[in-house]
Amino acid sequence: MKTAQEFVTSVRGLASQVYVLGDPVADPLTHPILRPSLNALAMTYQLAHDDSAIALMQTRSSLDGRPINCFTSIHRSPEDLVRKVQALRRLGQETGTCFQRCVGWDALNALYSTTFEIDQAKGTSYHKRFLDYLKSVQENDWVLNGAMTDVKGDRSKRPSEQADPDLFVHVVERQRNGIIVRGAKAHQTGAVFSHEIVVMPTLALRSSESDYALAFAIPVNTPGVIHIVGRQASDTRKLEGTTFDVGNVRFGGHEVLVILDNVFVPWERVFMCGEYEFAGMLVERFAGYHRQSYGGCKAGVGDVLIGATATAAEYAGVAEAAHVKRKIGEMIHLNETLYACGIACSHLSQPTASGVYLVDLLLANVCKQNVTRFPYEIARLAEDIAGGLMVTMPSKKDWDNPRLRPYIEKYLKGVAEVPTEDRLRILRLIENFTLGTAAVAYRTESMHGAGSPEAQVIMIARQSNLAQKKEWAKKLAGIIPDWDDVRGWLAKEMAETQASLN
Ligand code: SF4
Ligand code: FE
Repeated sequence: MKTAQEFVTSVRGLASQVYVLGDPVADPLTHPILRPSLNALAMTYQLAHDDSAIALMQTRSSLDGRPINCFTSIHRSPEDLVRKVQALRRLGQETGTCFQRCVGWDALNALYSTTFEIDQAKGTSYHKRFLDYLKSVQENDWVLNGAMTDVKGDRSKRPSEQADPDLFVHVVERQRNGIIVRGAKAHQTGAVFSHEIVVMPTLALRSSESDYALAFAIPVNTPGVIHIVGRQASDTRKLEGTTFDVGNVRFGGHEVLVILDNVFVPWERVFMCGEYEFAGMLVERFAGYHRQSYGGCKAGVGDVLIGATATAAEYAGVAEAAHVKRKIGEMIHLNETLYACGIACSHLSQPTASGVYLVDLLLANVCKQNVTRFPYEIARLAEDIAGGLMVTMPSKKDWDNPRLRPYIEKYLKGVAEVPTEDRLRILRLIENFTLGTAAVAYRTESMHGAGSPEAQVIMIARQSNLAQKKEWAKKLAGIIPDWDDVRGWLAKEMAETQASLN
């Protein structure tokens, strides 16, 4: 297992062709917009060596029993999946942002069972290849950029109907030693500091779309891979040479448009190529795991936002107001509901044919559907309690101006015993969660990450067994004939009870 320092060293100069704000970046590690993201990823290594977190973050390999970082593990029981949610919550609490490593973990577990089942059905040897790859992942303690979301072009058209066939990643040439692929993956979390990219299809596919039925892994520095880092609200505050106005002084995340421009993938790194019937299975399982993940990480980030809001209330002298206490309580209730769903879908996980456990898909989708709503309400309550000062207060540059600082100190003071600077800092942190760079992870990613609301609605409908619910209702309404007996018995019971009362 790598230490945090070994991780940082291992990704130095690794990702090829990184662009931020239009410019190529020679050393992403030191770029002020990217560095907080590296810090957050490094916490997934640091906590694995921290006594207080080892039980959550370290586990043993199902391949050879060696100790490994949990982020490279395969889930062998419901308890493993519960521990995953707990680990993600802990990391959310420590970083207050997206720590970027779960997508690859979820990709590993989805590929494990899907490659096994492709081989069972087709006599292929993808699972053996995948196990070799998994061994490398565990030995090297890699960060994997799990790459699922295609750019999709015209949403009314299927992949093969697009005016430009590259709008979904596809194989353009099959060669003796491997394949050439082309396309792009959007919203790639943590891509610049990943060791590897693990590509998967983005939707269930039809027989005419077999060129899009692709899963493979490549190093981030493979020729033809280009990283265009997405900008985030207030990201240039990180270029101002001070953390004061950034809010979260240590951690952040980044999202990337990853271009695959005629990339060569050797066959030993290909885990699906043409088996369109299994694309839907892979997508559904990956999405299920990642929708479970949010019950951990978003609850962890929510913990920090609740703590920041309660602190801001104290600093303003309103912590004892009844409505503030009630609103903080409401925030906690919403946040714990997210966590409860993550834990529940883990407890009810079931083994797949390969032995890896899959979360309960109905509850995992309910978990993520709540995540599309509750963080917004938690953020609304945080803004309510924080007050308008969160978005009108002066900048660090004003604070540093000796003529202005005494005025700011004096007039933006809350309770007498708390320095004005502390009050401004906690408000900047709340601003970061609700409106700044961390809002990417806490708000928009809560909406669309791991699947937009409609994707969950479809899965919830598919998993919920509506026919059985209708049957129960019809029985109680006396519509189903064989219920008559029970009704008769019930009527007799009630008449006897009534008689005895009389
Ligand atoms: Fe992990 Fe959450 Fe970030 Fe997804 S959003 S990578 S689950 S921290
Ligand atoms: Fe995500």
